[in-house]
Amino acid sequence: MIKSLRPTSVPANPEQWSEKSKQSVAFGFRLEYKDKPYNCWHCHADSVFTAQDQKYTFEILRASITQNRILCQPCWTESNRIRASLRDCEEQWSLSKRQLQADETFLGRWLDLLVALEKYVPYKPDTAKKNMLSRLLSKV
Ligand SMILES: [Zn+2]
Repeated sequence: MIKSLRPTSVPANPEQWSEKSKQSVAFGFRLEYKDKPYNCWHCHADSVFTAQDQKYTFEILRASITQNRILCQPCWTESNRIRASLRDCEEQWSLSKRQLQADETFLGRWLDLLVALEKYVPYKPDTAKKNMLSRLLSKV
């Protein structure tokens, strides 16, 4: 098999960063992006935030220059799937709260999704919403 010739570093162009990133101390110092190895926070797989991904993330998506990767690609995809399902729940909830507050299946699924997401993000569990769902579930 031919080894990938992907560069492990690429030149940085901080002029393309977001306005907020331009105010960081890295602005004026960052000449290149280098591959950053890390272990996935969820499954501990060896992963790399590649130099090319960094360039794309900071200069095209214009994400904060302080942003780091914590999940491997499959876990990232899964966490996005959970987030999308949670948005569906929120939307259904806003449309038909009255019926759904007695819908055990809906409430249970929503709560499961919130718990599932916590395994993928190491911050901000939505405790208020979990409490609300547990309280509603105890009544149905
Ligand atoms: Zn992972």
